[in-house]
Parts: sequence; C-alpha cells; structure tokens
Amino acid sequence: MKKRIAIFGSTGSIGTQALEVISSNEDKFEVEILTAHSNEKLLIEQARKYKPNAVVIVNEKKYTTVKDELAGTDVKVFAGEASLEEVAAFDTYDMMLAAIVGFAGLKSTLKCIASGKPVALANKETLVVAGDIVMQKAVKKRVPVIPVDSEHSAIFQCLLGETRNKIEKIILTASGGPFLGRKPNFLVNVKKEHALQHPNWTMGAKISVDSATLMNKGLEMIEARWLFNLQPEQIEVIVHPESIIHSMVQFEDGSIKAQMGPPDMKLPIQYALAFPQRIPNDFPRYDFTRSDGLHFEKPDIKTFRNLALAIQALQKGGNVPCVLNAANEIAVYGFLHNRIGFLDMMEIVERAMDKIPFIEKPTLEEYFESDAAARNFAASLIHI
Ligand code: NDP
Ligand code: MG
Repeated sequence: MKKRIAIFGSTGSIGTQALEVISSNEDKFEVEILTAHSNEKLLIEQARKYKPNAVVIVNEKKYTTVKDELAGTDVKVFAGEASLEEVAAFDTYDMMLAAIVGFAGLKSTLKCIASGKPVALANKETLVVAGDIVMQKAVKKRVPVIPVDSEHSAIFQCLLGETRNKIEKIILTASGGPFLGRKPNFLVNVKKEHALQHPNWTMGAKISVDSATLMNKGLEMIEARWLFNLQPEQIEVIVHPESIIHSMVQFEDGSIKAQMGPPDMKLPIQYALAFPQRIPNDFPRYDFTRSDGLHFEKPDIKTFRNLALAIQALQKGGNVPCVLNAANEIAVYGFLHNRIGFLDMMEIVERAMDKIPFIEKPTLEEYFESDAAARNFAASLIHI
C-alpha cells in the first residue's frame, strides 16, 4: 500500500522538495492533497503531474483559473482559508506534511491531529505559537508528530532507542547565517538581497531572513521544548558554520550523540515521510577525508538580539512565544518589503513583547487573540 501524502504548502521550498522525494519513490508514496496560497501556476502544474484528489488555493481570486485549468481532470478544487481545515479533515490521506509558512499553518495542522493523522512537521511556528496545546492534543489522540526541521529530525534520530534514558541537554546547531561575525555597524545597512543569500541552505524568504537574524534558532529552541518535552535550560545553541552536524543530544552519563550529513532538506523530509524506514537514495554523501574541519563557536546574542528575545520568551512561556512569533512575522514582512531595516526587526519584536499583556496559561482562543494583538501592534509601528 502506498502512503497517501497531503502536502500543505506544496509550492514552497519544503513542499517542492517533498514532491521531488515522492517522484523518486513512486512505489512508496502518492499525493492526495496539495495546497498553495497564491502561486496558482505551480499548483496547477503540480496537480497535473501528481493527480491528487484535491487542491486548495487559499487566494480566492485565483479559484476560477485553477478550476478552469483543471477542468477535465478528477482533481477537486477548493479555495479560501477555511478550505485548508476542510480538506485537513478528509479521511483519504495517511500523513500530512505541514509545510505552510508561519501562523497560517496552525489551524490545518490542528485539524489533522484532531482527525488522528500523523504529521510530518516543517511548520515550526505551529509549536512556537501553541506548542503546549498542539502536543497535548497529539498525545491524547496518539498522533505521531515527526519533525522535518533538520535540527529536530537530528534530535529525533538520536533519541531512537533511548526510551528511558534521561536527556541532560540538547545542543542545537546553527549555521550562523549569512552575517556570521558581523556587527551592528554593518547590519544596519544590509538589504533583503543580502539576507536571502544563505551560505548552506536554499529556503523560503521568511525562514531565510529568520536565519539571518538568528530568530530561526530561537524559534527552534521553542519548537524543541515542546517536541521533546524539555525544560528551557536543557536547550543550548552552538554555531557550527559547516552545517554538517545537524544537532546533538547529551545524556546524563555525558555521552553525546550527533546526527550528521550534508545540508540537504530532502533527507529530513524523506526520513519523516518514510519513518520508521530509511530509504536508499543518491543524495550527496559527506566525506570526512575531504573535510576542512568542523568548527564551533558561541552565538553572538548581543548583536543578534532576536535570539536573546526568543530565549526570554522560552523562559517566560505563556503567550510570550506567540507574541514573539507574531511580531516577528510582521517585522520580516516589513523588511522583505523594504519598509524597515535589518536591526529594526529586533526592536519591533522587543516592543511587542513589552506591550502585549502576559497570559500564563492561554487557551487556544487566547493564543489567537495574542497573535492578533501582537500583529496589530507591530504593524502600527511600521505603518502597514
Ligand atoms: P516557502 O515560503 O517557500 O513556502 C510556503 C508555502 O506556504 C507555500 O506553498 C505558500 O504558498 C504557502 N503559504 C504562504 N502563506 C500562506 C498562507 N497565509 N496560507 C496558506 N498557505 C500559505 O516556505 P518554506 O518551504 O521555506 O517553509 C515552510 C515551513 O517550513 C516554514 O514554517 C519554515 O520555517 C519551515 N522550514 C523550512 C525549511 C526550508 O529549508 N525551507 C527548513 C526547516 C523548516 P504560495 O507559494 O502560493 O505563496
Ligand atoms: Mg532548522
């Protein structure tokens, strides 16, 4: 039996790489659902090639084009934000790949979990915003949440077979992004073109900017807290510019396990889709004899304040990570649209964290309210 995959965010960096993995393993996987926000051209092309049961185009203005272009096929076409949840409740797929970017991915992922379907989770913001509630629901429903994020996939792999052994800490590796070693006098002038040039990974625009500000690593600390049920002080970040060690787990006897490989997202995507199997492939292999060495240093959280802010949010808990995430999404949007500078992003996040009232144990509704309040406040700061 082939595993039927629902790819939410199929037109993005993770989504398109997942389709490549599926193309190379047609005996194992088939595509059941594809979703996009506005890229109707690519969605139509994907639908023709992979013949899913259903597609969603969130931007309703594009509905007629998608419907017309797919007339004569068996593909059902849906439009609008609410359709994401509607198709996430279908019982015709076996696993969701949650690869929508940002808070926008939360509701459909929750619906998938409520329907009892395993999730391959790329959308880290889901856990940053409401990780306690998402993981509680997953545990209650006995739904596996398999990480796609390379660091979390690494930790997940290191933990296999360690069921009753205590974790002392996990060590998340960070490439340092394109501005490693730079100081504020340089960063004040950088533009989005520079920030989008990541040295090791090709990714969507939002996560590329997050990697450049180190917010991505902060979001990943919060993601790890919920995925692996850790205390904030058990999570450490170390800069490792080569991105060969994808992350590590240190156990209470001092032994450290690492998962390694060349930086290629297709590997963790394939691992999550096929779990618990490993599938042979022709991806590049790492050759230690050709290595120039692996290097490590402390992150500069004074310059890259977003990481310090995320650590604060992780420690405070409650709705603070949700506020951090919402303000960051607006700040990144502002930066990508040339409204604000690189360092302004950190200022916006900090001001939102100061402004929005603290809630210690938010309900899901309160998370939505905190998200909206932080977004509105951040948007008012940059006049969008
Ligand atoms: P992209 O920006 O490349 O793709 C995002 C996808 O989500 C696209 O299909 C896009 O549709 C869709 N989308 C965007 N906004 C909305 C919305 N409001 N509602 C519904 N769908 C929407 O992102 P990435 O693939 O880079 O990242 C996806 C997620 O995976 C992020 O959470 C990221 O942090 C995480 N991740 C990504 C990695 C990477 O290497 N790229 C690595 C680890 C984690 P359209 O194309 O039509 O706009
Ligand atoms: Mg990552």
